[in-house]
Amino acid sequence: MAHLLFKDVNKVYPNGYHAVHDFNMEIKDGEFICLVGDSGCGKSTTLRMIAGLEEITAGEFYIDGKLANLMTSRERGIAMVFQSYALYPHLTVAENLGFGLTLEGVDADVIDEKVQKTAAILGLTPYLDRFPRNLSGGQCQRVAVGRALIRKVSIFLMDEPLSNLDAKQRVTMRSEIKQIHRSVGATTIYVTHDQTEAMTMSDRIVVMKSGGYVQQIGTPYELYFYPDNLFVAGFIGEPPMNFLKGKVEGGKFVNDSVSLDIAPVVDDIASIEGKEVVFAFRPEAIKVAKSGRAGKEEYLIKSNVDLTELLGDTTNVYANVGDVNVILKVNPHDTPAMGAEFKFVVPYKAAYIFDKETEKAIPSSIKRN
Ligand code: ADP
Repeated sequence: MAHLLFKDVNKVYPNGYHAVHDFNMEIKDGEFICLVGDSGCGKSTTLRMIAGLEEITAGEFYIDGKLANLMTSRERGIAMVFQSYALYPHLTVAENLGFGLTLEGVDADVIDEKVQKTAAILGLTPYLDRFPRNLSGGQCQRVAVGRALIRKVSIFLMDEPLSNLDAKQRVTMRSEIKQIHRSVGATTIYVTHDQTEAMTMSDRIVVMKSGGYVQQIGTPYELYFYPDNLFVAGFIGEPPMNFLKGKVEGGKFVNDSVSLDIAPVVDDIASIEGKEVVFAFRPEAIKVAKSGRAGKEEYLIKSNVDLTELLGDTTNVYANVGDVNVILKVNPHDTPAMGAEFKFVVPYKAAYIFDKETEKAIPSSIKRN
């Protein structure tokens, strides 16, 4: 296990591209951290700086209190799993697993014992004599994980390790990797563009935005219920959060379609009077307004249904509020007809207000869960 500390870490590539800006974070021993964000936001660059594969342009990076900027990859005590698996095609599973140890000159008996043990953890024992070409994608990925696991390291780095697998295999490998992490305990940094992977696997998530800017660092719970800004609010959660644009007038959120008294859900309504803001709510936070009216501490919103999708446990309702498209999740038994008017309520505790200009969340004393 290892404790990591980043102080104002920056990466500028030789061509002048500034890929990571002021990365600041402390990672505790044994934490599972996901770096998440759209393609090109600097996740891999950050991971490669941790691995020692990419030079840190400015700032300091510490491993267990020791400045690590200039340490070699080997000195850092890391193992890395790549998206491409990077298996040796001419070596068997057993040889692939033991390859790193062979290079280090470890005794053949010891290697064999470790290979057997690692294969057992990953369910690879029946495949030890096979070549990678005779394995499924999931099995190849397991070998790649096993190859990293077999070396006793304190930092485990994974770069989109599941993106070549199909949806079902991804779900299985997700829980396997979590389980391995629980039993091995190595500090793990995991890069993904998939918010579901990040939400389900992480102790904490780092949300990054294109240009290499960290948007928020927090537990899945914190990011979901307390997003700092519009980017995080829109990135975390599937289907994404709904955003209505409008203005604050007389303590109300108003636009062409709605007029909602938002004074109860912000700390200081006077401070945002006259401002352009965004009223936001999650698809799953709404309730069908069966009586056609709002209850206590609820906002009533009218929409028109464009399309419904029955998923089994829930129905996704694609509707519009004025000219804004929204997605609403309802009980399948309450599925509205396509083309119909659909009234729903948003409880106060599920309403978020963001400043449109700064994109930052307006503080609220309302507890969200
Ligand atoms: P992510 O992993 O989030 O998809 P990367 O860290 O791979 O993003 O890349 C971040 C940005 O840095 C991208 O715009 C990418 O084009 C750029 N980049 C990556 N490697 C280099 C390089 N060697 N030279 C210049 N720019 C690079």
